Amino acid sequence: MTTVVLFTRDLRVRDNPALAAACRDDYVVPLFVLDPRLLEASPNRTAFLVDSLASLRTELRDRGGDLVLRSGEPVAEALSLAASVGASRIVASADVSAYAGRREARLAAADVAFATYPGVTVVPPGELRPTGGDHYRVFTPYWRAWERASWRPVERAPARVQLPGGLAVGRLPARPTDVSPLLPRGGEDVGQRLLARVGPGDRDALAADETTRLSPYLHFGCVSPLAVATRLRGKADEVVRQLCWRDFFHQVTSAFPAIGTRDYRPGRRSWASGQEDAIEAWRQGRTGVPIVDAGMRQLLAEGWMHNRARMVVASFLTKQLNVDWRIGAAHFLRWLVDGDVANNSGNWQWVAGTGNDTRPNRVLNPLRQAYRFDPTGDYVRRYVPELAEVSGKGVQEPWKLEPPPPDYPPPRIDPVPSRG
Ligand SMILES: Cc1cc2nc3c(=O)[nH]c(=O)nc-3n(C[C@H](O)[C@H](O)[C@H](O)COP(=O)(O)OP(=O)(O)OC[C@H]3O[C@@H](n4cnc5c(N)ncnc54)[C@H](O)[C@@H]3O)c2cc1C
Repeated sequence: MTTVVLFTRDLRVRDNPALAAACRDDYVVPLFVLDPRLLEASPNRTAFLVDSLASLRTELRDRGGDLVLRSGEPVAEALSLAASVGASRIVASADVSAYAGRREARLAAADVAFATYPGVTVVPPGELRPTGGDHYRVFTPYWRAWERASWRPVERAPARVQLPGGLAVGRLPARPTDVSPLLPRGGEDVGQRLLARVGPGDRDALAADETTRLSPYLHFGCVSPLAVATRLRGKADEVVRQLCWRDFFHQVTSAFPAIGTRDYRPGRRSWASGQEDAIEAWRQGRTGVPIVDAGMRQLLAEGWMHNRARMVVASFLTKQLNVDWRIGAAHFLRWLVDGDVANNSGNWQWVAGTGNDTRPNRVLNPLRQAYRFDPTGDYVRRYVPELAEVSGKGVQEPWKLEPPPPDYPPPRIDPVPSRG
């Protein structure tokens, strides 16, 4: 019996239930389909994807198999490969976005057997339900249920992957070059090394940079969220709680797949229009508010931004400039190496007040945030070279310096929000 494993964002051999199930059959065809439409969305993510595919291919080759690469529309390619190798079924990891939902529905309707397996989240979306609802709308009750839930056992990497003979495996695409200069390298090997180093840290100290930086590895599935949570439970519980946030937004997205385009709670906000210059200044990190600009420039430089900075820049855009969260989310998705619909839109809507926050009107005061989470100004100085020589309070409030620093713009709006 031959099984095609359609890899999507589960690019690993360790704790991959779909791959493990397929390897219990005689022959396995590990497949990844390069969808030209997705490859264009973000050079940063495409580069990370290419690294991750190379690493997955190495892992599969080490076990006697290979990664088969095709280019085109994933469902059509998977079905045509399954037919050409005489596969009796296709397996994949279940996923939550509208795009993934369409893919799974089409495969389920095809002539070949199709099965999905868990692996994209710790607890599968839909497994935990509040009484009288299909998903949790608020984090804390979800967290309580999630903590008590029983988790499936972690799957071992298969010892052997037996590929049928005579298959053209296909070449890896070129890694894009127009990427953020400090973009991390993708792959299961790098993800495993990062995971081995995780310990407790201060997750809000911007300059200390002590969060795990596992997000792109989790996004592409180079590491398994369940394996990470199992390993860190009791050792770094704050990280485990963040993985619950990730699961939370995945179960929201599974129940509300339009999360990337439509307000989860409609009718709460209205947006200012015609602010192209202010939006462009925000994108470039030239708003004149150092903590905001440092975050936005970290995004361009690394394809990643510290969570605390993401909250500050998103609040600034949606609550102080009153710009529609979709404009901010689109810019994030262009650059973020960990960018995904569930976490990105879920968090943007949370900050904008259209999502799952129980206090939708809160506004983060960027100055208070700066003094609290970047008290020495080191985070600002790292990403805003115009302020690299400024010390004291001037690094967070350069408009008060006499004379003001050359080359750095004055703020366009009062940085202190009227509320917050
Ligand atoms: C406006 C905004 C947009 C965001 N967009 C994304 C996105 O597109 N993709 C993404 O993975 N995260 C997103 N986040 C969540 C969070 O900022 C990142 O997951 C985190 O900064 C990644 O760094 P880390 O791996 O060091 O996190 P750690 O603190 O080490 O956390 C471990 C893991 O938990 C998950 N996690 C942490 N915080 C959150 C959170 N608030 N929501 C959901 N999952 C979380 C991530 O998978 C992360 O890798 C966004 C947050 C905000 C405020």
